[in-house]
This record gives sequence, structure tokens and C-alpha cells, in this order.
Amino acid sequence: MRSLNILTLFPEFFTGPFTTGLMGKFIEKGSVRFNIVDIRTYSEDNFNRCDDYPYGGGSGMVLKPEPLFRALDALENRGTVMLTSPSGVPLTQQRVKEFSDLEDITIICGHYEGVDQRVVDTYVDHEVSIGDYVLSGGEFAALIITDTLVRYLPGFMSNPESLVEETFEESLLEYPHYTRPDEYRGLQVPPVLLSGNHAKIAEWRLQNRLEKTRRVRPDLYNRYQIIKEKQR
Ligand code: SAH
Repeated sequence: MRSLNILTLFPEFFTGPFTTGLMGKFIEKGSVRFNIVDIRTYSEDNFNRCDDYPYGGGSGMVLKPEPLFRALDALENRGTVMLTSPSGVPLTQQRVKEFSDLEDITIICGHYEGVDQRVVDTYVDHEVSIGDYVLSGGEFAALIITDTLVRYLPGFMSNPESLVEETFEESLLEYPHYTRPDEYRGLQVPPVLLSGNHAKIAEWRLQNRLEKTRRVRPDLYNRYQIIKEKQR
């Protein structure tokens, strides 16, 4: 990723997350150009209005086409355009990996009932949903997409191995983690992890992944079994 533009009615949303924590630290290093665009600055009326009533009736407001068209046209590196939307294709780790190969990305944060369809038809390459629930605006979704992408940037992970071993790789959830002390308030770390026996540790971790995936994500567990069946 070379540049990331985020179009929003609420640029303040991004000040905290983009200046603190792991993501903020990396963003400040400046290897990617982050560009937060306030959609309102592209509004054409004197009151900076960006929404209007829906044609055909119905409740709620719709983001007007003009400010978004103008904001998108003004971008130097528009690249691939994503619209955050509960009716988009759900974001998965596989899709994150594919998106992480893109050079320039623009994310549009929707609001109210959504955006005028002409914006979607003219500019949007991917409508992206972060899950089967409805948010009040696309800002959190854009933050989530950004966070997942930043983890794939070179230099972000001190140990890039973590990207290979983690949850969702091979359709299994991750195993439980423990760190020092080995006993706390009478709670013990599983002895096998202290044994130094790498084969036994690997086996313990796999068993825990299988058990947890079967329990909380039967959908992933079935997929895992199908993949394993094919490999035989
Ligand atoms: N009326 C719409 C919901 C609009 S929610 C509908 O029923 O589909 C307002 C905005 O929040 C959307 O335009 C979108 O940008 C964002 N949003 C809401 N839920 C989301 C989700 N699950 N994933 C991504 N963006 C979402």
C-alpha cells in the first residue's frame, strides 16, 4: 500500500486511532500516505449540506452525489475505491490479504441510509461489509479495514511469522496464549508449555485449535475438515 484516502463526514474519528497504539506509531513513520478527506469541504451549498431526502420516499437521508463525485475526482491517487456498506461482500482475512497488495486505496464512509447509487456505479470497485450488523456510519468500518491492512505492511510486524500462524489461517482459530508468571493466584500455565518438548507443544496447540473451532465456529471447522479431506 502506497496511499490510503478516507472520505468521511467526521474526520475527527481518525485522529485518535491514527496517532496512538501500534497503528498510530506505524502511520507516523510515514511509509504510507494517509489522507483523511472531509466530504463537507466538497459540498456545493452554503450550509455544507451533504445529505438529502430519498427519491421514492422512505425514512432517513441519503449522501448526495455531488460532494462525493467532486471529492473523488480531486484525489491524486484514487486507486481502488471501497465503499463501507452492510450490503457489501463481508471482509475476511483472505480478502484483507488480497487488498494488501493494492498500491492506492480509497475508502468511502457512508452515513445516514447510505450513499446515492450513482456514486457506487461510477466509482466503487468493492462494497465492503465488516459483518452482519448495522453501524451508524462507515467510520468504524474504515478503521477496521485500515487496521487489517496496516498489519501487512512491510516492517509493521516485528515477527512476520505471526501473520502465517494466526487465527483463520487454515480455517482454524488460534490456540490459547500464556506468558510469565507460570503461576498466578493459583492459576497454572499448562505444564506442557513449560516442558520444552516442541512436538508435544505443537500437538497441544493443534488440539486446542481444533476443540475451540469445533465449539465456537462449526462453519470454519467444517471447512477445515473439507480442506484436510482434499489433502489426503
Ligand atoms: N440503510 C442501510 C444502513 C445504513 S448504515 C441498510 O440498511 O443497509 C450507515 C452507514 O454505515 C452505511 O452507509 C455504511 O457506510 C456504514 N455501515 C453500517 N453497517 C456496516 C457494516 N456492517 N459494514 C460496513 N459498513 C457499515
